[in-house]
Amino acid sequence: MNKIKLALIAVVSFALVACGGGESNETVSNNNSSTPSGTGNSNSNGSTSYVAGSFKSADLTGAYFPSDGAASGNGGAECLSSFNYNYFESEDVMVYGDPNLPDTDFKHAATLVENLLNAAFNAVGITRQEFDDYRPKYTPQVFNNLINGYLLGFTVETEQGAEEHDISDLDSDFPAPANWSEMTYNQRYSFVIGYWNSASDSKHGELVASYTEHYQFDPVGYNTVADKVVVCLDQTMNGSRYGQGSIIGMNIAPNSTASRNDDDEVVLHELIHMIQFNVAVPTEGAAYGLDRWFTEGQATYLAGQKVASSHSGHYPVHVVDLYDEGQHFSDTGLAYEHYAVAYKYIDTHNSKAEVLNMLLDIRNYQGEGMRTRSSGVSSDIFQESFNVNMHKKDGTQLTINDYRSNYHTILNN
Ligand SMILES: [Zn+2]
Repeated sequence: MNKIKLALIAVVSFALVACGGGESNETVSNNNSSTPSGTGNSNSNGSTSYVAGSFKSADLTGAYFPSDGAASGNGGAECLSSFNYNYFESEDVMVYGDPNLPDTDFKHAATLVENLLNAAFNAVGITRQEFDDYRPKYTPQVFNNLINGYLLGFTVETEQGAEEHDISDLDSDFPAPANWSEMTYNQRYSFVIGYWNSASDSKHGELVASYTEHYQFDPVGYNTVADKVVVCLDQTMNGSRYGQGSIIGMNIAPNSTASRNDDDEVVLHELIHMIQFNVAVPTEGAAYGLDRWFTEGQATYLAGQKVASSHSGHYPVHVVDLYDEGQHFSDTGLAYEHYAVAYKYIDTHNSKAEVLNMLLDIRNYQGEGMRTRSSGVSSDIFQESFNVNMHKKDGTQLTINDYRSNYHTILNN
């Protein structure tokens, strides 16, 4: 590998690290509309029932919380380090956190997630089986190690000297395009992400094993994605910064320190983020390729949270990233109500399957466009996928630029 390539890889790696990680935490306002059923399990004598489960130690089971911050949206720091071993496990959920927290905090979180998981799948229009198939085997860091140090180029010592190899040499299933040798680094990067995201868990395992053999180094460690929803009880969160969705599950405030009477809506909202990330951006684990109004609008609207009563005077579709939110809205709660309005139109005039197809087009994107968004500018992967799949009320194409420029006219028609 020559020095220019190394420098390019270093720049790209830095960019991924610099923009990796989580969005802001949810500060959604309370909602008076109909709510999905969450814990709501109080029985007649006022005590609460919890799902069945048991406390475990990863020192005995090996199931440590991933050490890759991108897996937990760069939140949940306590679970990444100090409390990565202590968890409560129920049928579909693993709740990690400080062993000094009351047991009921763990059980409360597990119960919320267990009770809302099917509602989240139904809201997005995906089956549990489909979700499991889309879910990556490894966290984003493992893929980033492989693509940067291996799949896009690595050195093999031969009797003739050092040879440059890449995925086209080591994976006979890889469908290298005819112009592979002429492709730029960015073209190859995008092509390999699309290939990886369509490959099976066993293919990922095969490539990881090959990396491990070549470098005599295990790139995985604890960085696998569990089959269950992994929750971190995050004591840095509170009643107003309550939840954050991630590729492995979510970070939420412990119930004993930050109880919310709408915690079922917030948990459903975060589960919808978890589905978005696993389907659309499984190698990133965060929404940096997706418009903020869309990810928050889908999560807010489908979770049954508050929708603004009038769209007039607001421009939610202009909010591509967090900076834009501050430019267009005086507070986050108001912004979320309007993201929900913008998404409601999408939901009303497009089927769940069409929206899911849009997320899958993002997942499978192999083009040369920008993969990340910037203030006021959608990523190409979002823009192209949105434009191909979304429709207006009359059935004609809805482009993101049209929606942004003519938002009020479109909603009034
Ligand atoms: Zn959200």
